[in-house]
Amino acid sequence: MDHFTYNNGTLCAEDVPLDAIAAEVGTPFYCYSSATIERHFRVFTEALQPLPATLCYSVKANSNLAVIRTMAEMGAGADVVSGGELIRALKAGVPPERIVFSGVGKSKEEIAQAIDAGISQINVESEPEIAAINEVAAARGTKAPIALRINPDIDAGSHDKISTGRSEDKFGIEWTRAHEVFTAAAALPNVVPMGLAMHIGSQLANLQPFRDAFVRLRDVAAMLKADGLEIQTLDLGGGLGIPYDGSTLPTPAEYGAMVKDIFADLDYRLLFEPGRVIVGNAGILVTRVLYIKEGATRRFVILDAAMNDLMRPALYGAHHEMVAVADPGQSPREPADVVGPICETGDAFGNGVSLPPLKAGDLLAIRTAGAYGAVMASMYNSRALVPEVLVKDSNFAVVRERLGIEELLSHEKMPGWLPQTTR
Ligand SMILES: *Cc1c(COP(=O)(O)O)cnc(C)c1O
Repeated sequence: MDHFTYNNGTLCAEDVPLDAIAAEVGTPFYCYSSATIERHFRVFTEALQPLPATLCYSVKANSNLAVIRTMAEMGAGADVVSGGELIRALKAGVPPERIVFSGVGKSKEEIAQAIDAGISQINVESEPEIAAINEVAAARGTKAPIALRINPDIDAGSHDKISTGRSEDKFGIEWTRAHEVFTAAAALPNVVPMGLAMHIGSQLANLQPFRDAFVRLRDVAAMLKADGLEIQTLDLGGGLGIPYDGSTLPTPAEYGAMVKDIFADLDYRLLFEPGRVIVGNAGILVTRVLYIKEGATRRFVILDAAMNDLMRPALYGAHHEMVAVADPGQSPREPADVVGPICETGDAFGNGVSLPPLKAGDLLAIRTAGAYGAVMASMYNSRALVPEVLVKDSNFAVVRERLGIEELLSHEKMPGWLPQTTR
C-alpha cells in the first residue's frame, strides 16, 4: 500500500501531481510520500503490540534528514552503521537512548562518538571490537553499553549480497561462542553487556529463516541467563522484504505474530531495525525520457536517470516496476528496454518492460525506490546527485538539493607541480 496513485490520468504523490514537481525541480528526482512512511511505521509498530518493543529505523535504507525526522516524530529510534549516520540520526531528532550502532568495522573515532552521544547500545561483532570499546570507554572514564551480535548460521534465502547470517558471512560472532564471549565481556571494567543482537539479511521473502534464527537467539539468551548472566535487550534486526513485482510477501502483522509466538512472556526489551519495509515503497525515482531509439531488434527508451542514481538493478539484478506519469490507461502497451545514458551495458532498468507509447520529454516513475536508492547514488560520469523531494498531502518540499558538478569540483585541488590555472 502506497500513496502514489493516478488522478485523471496523472500519477500523483499524495495530492501532488508529479509533473508539477518535475516542472519545478527538474529531473531526475526522488520523491517520497510522508503518508506512506507514516503508515508503514504505524503498521509495523502495531504489529508488535503489546511487546516491549523499540523500533530503531535502519537509517542506511534512506538517510535523508527529513525522512528520519518524519519517523522520529512518531517515536522512532535509529539503527546506524557509521559515525555519519549517527550524526544524521541525532540531527533529525532521534533521542540517543533510542539509537543502536551496528556494523563490522567501527573505527575508534566512531566508537568515541557513540559513547559521547550516550546511545542505547553498540552492537559488537568481534572480540577485538569489544577490546577497542573497552579501551575507548576507559580513556573517557566511563562504561559503554554493548550487545553481542551473534551469527546464528541461518541462510536468509535472500540475494547473496544481502544475506548476512550464514557462518561464512563476515557479520557477528558465531552463536556457539556467545557464552564464552559474553562472559569475557562481562568481566571487562568499561563495557556493560546489555544483551544480544542479530540481523540475518535483507529482503527476506519468507518468515521461516527469521523464525529459526529467533528461536536460536532465544535459546542462547536463556542459556546465558541460566548461568547468571544478565540479558536485558534482544535486538532482532531488520530484513523483512517488500514486493517489487506485485508478489505476495509476509506482512508486518504475520511477522509480528511470529515474533510474539517466540518472545511473548519473556522479560526482554526487544529492539527491531526495519529499513526497507518502512521506506521502500514510500519512494519513487521520477525521470524523463530523453530519446526513443528503434534498435535493430528492440526498442530502447533512454532515460535521464542512470545506474548512478539507482544502483539496485545494476548491483543486484533487482526488478523495479516502471509506469508513465501521464497514462490515460487505454493506450496499448509496447515492450521496451529501459536504459540510462551511462556507458555501461549494466546501466539498464528493465528489458521488455510493458509501457504505454512514450515520446521524448515524457515522464516515467521507477517505483519502490525509497530504500537503498538515493543513499547508494554516486556521481559516476560526473553526474549530479539528484534532488530528494518529500510530499505531505498537497505540499512538497525539496529536502535535498541537487548536488552538481560545481560542488564536486570545488573540492578538487591541483597539486603544486601542475599549473594552478589553465593557460
Ligand atoms: C541493513 C540493516 C538493517 C535493515 O535492513 P532492511 O532489510 O532494510 O530492513 C537492519 N540492521 C542491520 C544491522 C543492517 O545492517
